[in-house]
Amino acid sequence: MSEHRDDRQTAGGYKQITSLANPLVKDLRALAMKKTRDERQLFVGEGLKLVTDALEEDWPIDMICFAAAARGQDRVMQAAAKVKARGGFVAEMTEAVLAKITRRDNPQMVVGVFKQKLTPLAKVALKENDVWVALEGIKDPGNLGTVVRTVDSVGAKGVILVGETCDPYSPEGVRATMGSLFHVPLVKCSVDEFLAFAAASPARLIGTHLKATHDYRTLASSEPTILLMGNEQAGLPDRLAEACDIRAKIPMAGRADSLNLAIATGIMLYELRRNVLTV
Ligand code: SAM
Repeated sequence: MSEHRDDRQTAGGYKQITSLANPLVKDLRALAMKKTRDERQLFVGEGLKLVTDALEEDWPIDMICFAAAARGQDRVMQAAAKVKARGGFVAEMTEAVLAKITRRDNPQMVVGVFKQKLTPLAKVALKENDVWVALEGIKDPGNLGTVVRTVDSVGAKGVILVGETCDPYSPEGVRATMGSLFHVPLVKCSVDEFLAFAAASPARLIGTHLKATHDYRTLASSEPTILLMGNEQAGLPDRLAEACDIRAKIPMAGRADSLNLAIATGIMLYELRRNVLTV
């Protein structure tokens, strides 16, 4: 996007963008599409909290945009100065421009553009008390973002996306993480790679399955654990379910067929982390 950054007016060390026709607006809007995100290896995150979370983790930031109305606000200007010091681009925008970029009527005052950053599977090593969540074929970005946030909340170590999954960098998914995306390592791998990794890992592999007979309320342990969750439609494929050391179920009493994937992951994580979490 750098070719669209040089012709802007400069004020106070940053660029001001007031026209909806500015080519940078089109560039940033295009990041709502997965194809563009993949090509540029970038994604958009909305809100000062997200930007602050990213800065705390030294996450590579491409640019920060802030609303003209936020000019002079200490935390916004500090964030902008940090982005600039790290080589990022800083732009002040009208609310209309921010709304167009984020495709929202009431845009956040601050929007960041971040580099995508996945962790290689080979870097994942589990030790005592470590829990990783593996999500097979997850399709709903809101569920994925909620799982990432919950993984962060319970102090689990990271999330492995197995097989064909939704994009963790979609605006909806990023929003649902509430900033935890910057604190929780994400790994992507195929089903075969995951099975080889799980077989070689000292961690127990716990799968969740509606046909399981093992009650999830017996699973808290300091053993390193990979929690494997099935996708929203079909649940865990047989091949993955059969590879698990334990298949567990959360009992249900009403007429619902199953729990929402993110809710089930939360319940499982609170059981697995029972012995280490204190109020
Ligand atoms: N029709 C799917 C099936 O038969 O598995 C439902 C999938 S459910 C919406 C998505 C995932 O959430 C499941 O694959 C499982 O990992 C988890 N899940 C949902 N309810 C569960 C329960 N009661 N016990 C264990 N896992 C559950």
